[in-house]
Amino acid sequence: MSAAFSPQDPRQIDAGLREKYDVRGPRYTSYPPATHFHPLKTAEVFARWQERNELTTDPGLSLYLHIPFCRKRCLFCGCHTVVGKKEAEIEDYLSALRHEIDLATEQVNPARPVHQLAVGGGTPNFLSAAQIQRLFSHLRGRWQLADEAELSVEINPRTATGEKIDALVEQGFNRFSLGIQDFSPAVLRTVRRDQGLMEVEEVLTRLRAQGIGSINFDLIYGLPGQDLAGCLSTADKVVQLRPDRIALYSYAHVPWIHAHQQALERAGLPEPDVKAALFLAMSDRFLSAGYEFIGMDHFALPDDPLAQALKNRSLRRNFMGYTTGRGLDLLGLGTSAISSIGSAYSQDDKDIGAYVQTLAQGQLPLVRGFLLSHDDLVRRELLLELFCNFHVDLAAWSQRFDLKAEDYLADDFARLEPLVQDGLLRLSPEAIEVTDTGRFFIRNICMAFDQYLEKDAGQRVYSRTV
Ligand code: SF4
Repeated sequence: MSAAFSPQDPRQIDAGLREKYDVRGPRYTSYPPATHFHPLKTAEVFARWQERNELTTDPGLSLYLHIPFCRKRCLFCGCHTVVGKKEAEIEDYLSALRHEIDLATEQVNPARPVHQLAVGGGTPNFLSAAQIQRLFSHLRGRWQLADEAELSVEINPRTATGEKIDALVEQGFNRFSLGIQDFSPAVLRTVRRDQGLMEVEEVLTRLRAQGIGSINFDLIYGLPGQDLAGCLSTADKVVQLRPDRIALYSYAHVPWIHAHQQALERAGLPEPDVKAALFLAMSDRFLSAGYEFIGMDHFALPDDPLAQALKNRSLRRNFMGYTTGRGLDLLGLGTSAISSIGSAYSQDDKDIGAYVQTLAQGQLPLVRGFLLSHDDLVRRELLLELFCNFHVDLAAWSQRFDLKAEDYLADDFARLEPLVQDGLLRLSPEAIEVTDTGRFFIRNICMAFDQYLEKDAGQRVYSRTV
């Protein structure tokens, strides 16, 4: 299978297929999706964590820290953010977060080397340079960062000062992800995000002067006011600035979850076929400029570790998106942060007041999650392979879980037959192989293996797949 996505003219993806597969479905940052999390007792979660502490191989960890603060809410935002907090409340939160960093070491063995640390939000660079210094010095005192660990942080160029960038670099951050979204001033005004090309260029210059060799741009398509000419102009500017990675996210319109998104509906969202055309046209620009297509919404330069991971089929996916960390458990810290450790998902309290209060009582603020069954684990692995590497080696998968693929997946394969007929994938006793066209519909393909979709039937819980 070729690792790169064949550039496709928008008109070549059959409009009938786009219409047929434009349904609501999960984005599979986890399986089962987080919509199935429910209240859990911490002891049940800790018992599953304990099993992983006892492992003698594969002990690596990935840490995620959530900084929920933002100066202003962008109208497309789907993250867990809080705006308008006073300095004292921010300090209370940071103090609680440091406490959580300490308490977690009692449940997850802190001798496990941390191969990845990711900081997201909200806006991590909302914090001052002094707050950044204090928080990460504290973390380094409790957890062991492996040599060569990847330390990544999301940056909002609007609030990135030289001092803050320097503080992050000093703490060892070596991957920076810049929230760009779009370069069109009119689109940015509509979504209430006032940021200019100049701010982005300044941040980039600072990062490169500091020797940072891994920079990602986040972009969104499907916003009001976006058209082909504007998106191509954004894509051209991106190509000129040459980040190592590009995440081109489909705007997820879920106003029943995020009420502020209703304003975008009033401003006029692009029709599904226009949205698909924007994605394919921008993709084409990135591919022509030498980027490779990774998973469903990422692009990377050929020597980037994500592109390498796709080539050697070791790409993975977690709550932060695509990653190279095969087999790493993820410990999430901070309000709303999700952990995925062994066979347990768990999530911290989304209510920032309750989060701070629980920690003040000396307890970890886990409130909900999901304990995976054997079937969940088997299917999670299969979906990860499909979503990340577009290929499942059925012999290896069967051997790993001690089962017979043709028996275990008989119903799934029957469900997939129409998708095979539509040219989205190929099935054989040896492998499941997603075609180039199928990559565009990867969420729909994964849905055929999802045992929880029936429970979702009739509920408006997911964004549209196309
Ligand atoms: S800066 Fe990022 S996290 Fe904050 S509101 Fe905007 S999109 Fe959401």
